[in-house]
Amino acid sequence: MVKDKRRGVIESWEKNRVMSWLTLLLMGGFLLVILISFFVSRHSLRNQIVHSSLPLTSDNIYSEIQRDLLQPVFISSLMASDTFVRDWILQGEKDPRNISRYLKEIMGKYGMFTAFLVSENTRNYYHSTGIVKNVLETDPRDAWYFRVRKLDQPFEINVDIDTVHADALTVFVNYRMYDYVNEYIGTTGVGLTVNEVKKRINSYETNYHRHIFFVDHQGVVMLSGEMFPKNIKRIYDIEGLGDTESWLLKKKETSYSYNSGGATTHLITRYIPEFNWYLIVEEEETVALREVSNSLLINLGICGVVITAILFMTHKVISGYQHRIEQLAITDKLTGVYNRRAFDLFMSQILRESERNQEHLSLILMDIDHFKQVNDTLGHLAGDKTIQEVVRVTRGMIRNADIICRWGGEEFLLIMRGCDEADGMRMAEKIRTAVEAQAIYYEGRKITVTVSLGVAENIKGDRDDILLSRTDRALYLAKQAGRNCVKAG
Ligand code: GH3
Ligand code: MG
Ligand code: MG
Repeated sequence: MVKDKRRGVIESWEKNRVMSWLTLLLMGGFLLVILISFFVSRHSLRNQIVHSSLPLTSDNIYSEIQRDLLQPVFISSLMASDTFVRDWILQGEKDPRNISRYLKEIMGKYGMFTAFLVSENTRNYYHSTGIVKNVLETDPRDAWYFRVRKLDQPFEINVDIDTVHADALTVFVNYRMYDYVNEYIGTTGVGLTVNEVKKRINSYETNYHRHIFFVDHQGVVMLSGEMFPKNIKRIYDIEGLGDTESWLLKKKETSYSYNSGGATTHLITRYIPEFNWYLIVEEEETVALREVSNSLLINLGICGVVITAILFMTHKVISGYQHRIEQLAITDKLTGVYNRRAFDLFMSQILRESERNQEHLSLILMDIDHFKQVNDTLGHLAGDKTIQEVVRVTRGMIRNADIICRWGGEEFLLIMRGCDEADGMRMAEKIRTAVEAQAIYYEGRKITVTVSLGVAENIKGDRDDILLSRTDRALYLAKQAGRNCVKAG
């Protein structure tokens, strides 16, 4: 089929416009939905981290600490009220081996890291190994004793280094002792290492990718898990926390989110009165966000596939309909050959092409003779049938490359490429003979018709309307000559 290029360009431009809009709408819509759901998920994830998982970890750690401390406090209280211990002091602290044995037994029986007794009377520090030292008011390492000495409460919990055990970080329970008339006679208690707390911190760090550490009031890191960077001495050394120094550790509890290295980290603080430290639990968002980001990527992938499928199908459907509409617009309904509109579209292009290729081109205009009579005597439907049959016979005579258009009622125009006037005349004559010989049957009645044909060859430089009028004139001549004949124009 010959196509009008300009028309084709306009139509494909329109189709592309529709496809572009559809692509934009689909992509815009999908992206909006995906991004909204991403931001909603991220928001709820942040909320969940700050308001649920971090506080929960903090609660767990704290209750773990309290549970771990419960037994030592109880043991220390038993030691402080033990009549053997009190009597031994009141009787002048004779034979330190007795008290050392007692302290050793306490350590062994309850699995304590250390057990001790300091007498107010002698200021001797007793340990399972004997007298370790004499506590002095002037020694800063003994400051704890003089603090407990003045304490209002029966005991304190103190995290300190244990001089007896190679300065290991130890949680001490310091319990005040009284004689039978309620006079202060010394301090006793046990100590446990922070190893258990450390183990707990490490398991939280590896299982939940959270940093857990304790800091004092100045923000100095006192206790942390193995994953905590060793070079960070104070929390304000952490990138993103530098400017929080004035307020972060002022409240008993607070939460804060900061950015470092392009990642958002959420933290919560909590004051632990037993240690006089703050417990800080923090979680980097990117780790938790990985799942949300993965589902974002999956959604984007699915959306890409769906959009491509929709566009592909739409393109196919539009192209199909476009092709059908195009066909309908240029096809004659009764005969199935091209209509006059198609001729208008093709003709100038065909003329140009054959002139460029320097090939002959002839037109044949064919009109059924006395056709009115067929209509008048046999009816309009018989006339239709006659037209269809004449077309069928004509199509059987011409080549595939020749184009036949229904020019008007029972008039047809044939475009014969590569044919000069003589070829055109020969072809017209063949058609005339074939139509004349064809018997047409309608409702059992036989109809025979003849056709008159006018032939004109394109002369270089002719416009299509001039060529047409010459063809028309040739047909007129054929009619004038008595019909059922072929004339050249
Ligand atoms: P001539 O030999 O001079 O051509 O005589 P004619 O009777 O064929 O005259 P003309 O070409 O003027 O008449 C054409 C007639 O064809 C007139 C019109 O009613 C009829 N006609 C046009 N289109 C159709 C059609 O689609 N179906 C039918 N049945 N008749 C048609
Ligand atoms: Mg006619
Ligand atoms: Mg006519």
